[in-house]
Amino acid sequence: MKAGQLWRKGREMLAPSPDADWDARQLLCDELGIERTQLAMHLFAEVDEAAEAAFLAAVRRRAAGEPLQYIRGRADFGGVTLRVDERVLIPRQDTESLALAALAHLAILHGEESPKQILDLCTGSGAVIIDIAKTCETEDFAYAAADISGDALCLARENARQNGVKVEFWQGDLFAAVPKGRRFDIITCNPPYLSRADMEDLQNEVRREPALALYGGEDGLDFYRRLAREAMEYLRPGGYLILEIGSTQAAAVRQIFSAWNTQVFQDLNGLDRVVAADLYGKGEGGAAWST
Ligand code: GLN
Repeated sequence: MKAGQLWRKGREMLAPSPDADWDARQLLCDELGIERTQLAMHLFAEVDEAAEAAFLAAVRRRAAGEPLQYIRGRADFGGVTLRVDERVLIPRQDTESLALAALAHLAILHGEESPKQILDLCTGSGAVIIDIAKTCETEDFAYAAADISGDALCLARENARQNGVKVEFWQGDLFAAVPKGRRFDIITCNPPYLSRADMEDLQNEVRREPALALYGGEDGLDFYRRLAREAMEYLRPGGYLILEIGSTQAAAVRQIFSAWNTQVFQDLNGLDRVVAADLYGKGEGGAAWST
């Protein structure tokens, strides 16, 4: 069959999904080993039987509700490409706002005493820390990341290697993973933040992703409570904790961090997505920071 005919067949198999065209095109381009933009030039090319069978198998997986990124085994995030599979949450575009907020805070800190230490908790595929490291391309920053899931860390390590960045990885539950005495200028975290009600209402595709990366307790806020209690002793004076939040959680998270200074940032859709918290000038420990 010719590539153009296969594309149409894939589209028909995926209808009525609104992404039918996009997904069929992407899976076909992967099979042909070309970029999406090159498809027009290959529409009349005969596709060999093996590639055709592989394409149709991929389309069938997609039609059965498997996320496109798991089928492709890769996801694009910010300026990097990452390997992903069922072991990790698929990096969302919304989360690029978390990396961006961290970069903006790093830009403020840069030039002061070096090297700057950056830690990413609940790192999953490593998307946030790897994107930050790749964007900064400076020897002045040192990167570390942690996750409770050994499976996720396996992928994150590989992603760091593939993207040519140096990140230290630790396994453990939130700060339990971090060696005692280590302090950071920036701590980023995209914790699980879906509530029990959210979990019951998940899209079919999201059900394929690890619940461990999604469920944040009854009201979805458990990890923010722990972070508010524990983060202080892992931040350097003047440091920032930068967190992704659900779009309706800003007020509740600010309340949890009422002893901190907080700032809320929006994502590309204009929804509340990031809270940055610091202790500058805030009493114990913080007092020393304000000098
Ligand atoms: N943004 C994700 C979703 O809506 C949730 C990610 C998370 O809990 N950190 O599926």
